[in-house]
Amino acid sequence: MKIVLATKNKGKLRELSAMAKDLGETNFEFVLAPDEFDPEETGTTYLENAVIKATEAARMTNLLSIADDSGLSVDALDGRPGVFSARYSGHDEAAGRRKLLDELKDVPDGNRGAQYVCCMAVCAPSNLEIVYTVETYWRGRIGVEERGTGGFGFDPIFYENNSDVTVAQLPAVEKNQKSHRGQAWRHVLTFLEKTFIS
Ligand code: IMP
Repeated sequence: MKIVLATKNKGKLRELSAMAKDLGETNFEFVLAPDEFDPEETGTTYLENAVIKATEAARMTNLLSIADDSGLSVDALDGRPGVFSARYSGHDEAAGRRKLLDELKDVPDGNRGAQYVCCMAVCAPSNLEIVYTVETYWRGRIGVEERGTGGFGFDPIFYENNSDVTVAQLPAVEKNQKSHRGQAWRHVLTFLEKTFIS
């Protein structure tokens, strides 16, 4: 069964397909959204943006679609950058990390809590109905300097709770097992299997 991922990001397609394969999933073939896919992410929540993207991808392709929207919510910043994480520093990830460390420079250790959030939505092509949504969290804290070269985005400054290494220092397989996106993806795959295969 062919399913469109509501993104043009080849890295995301690779990562999600690999995770599905590692879980023994062979019933679904995941494809990227077409080049013209460019919905405006006007939502104020992760869920609203995931729904906008899933609906547009299903409408354009007439395939079942899955969208994800994610970000980093920092406690000391009242949840910022949140849904605006990708745009926090003009889509420049290194600049975003520097900006966040700077915003938190006077925040003491005990108050540097944060969480990654991932929301996924599944949309049916026949009536553009959203048939499944899930939101997942990965709690941790923001360090005071960058460590590690793996992952992307805020990973070099994000520590999982009770860990003394950043997510950028974790092997990819371990990140996927624990991360907000990995958790959401496993929920979505279970839903797809139950609904469309068995
Ligand atoms: P999205 O692709 O629109 O969901 O944007 C997600 C943004 O949130 C990214 O550009 C990063 O800034 C941040 N983000 C989400 N998940 C992660 C992660 O696993 N590691 C690092 N940064 C993340």
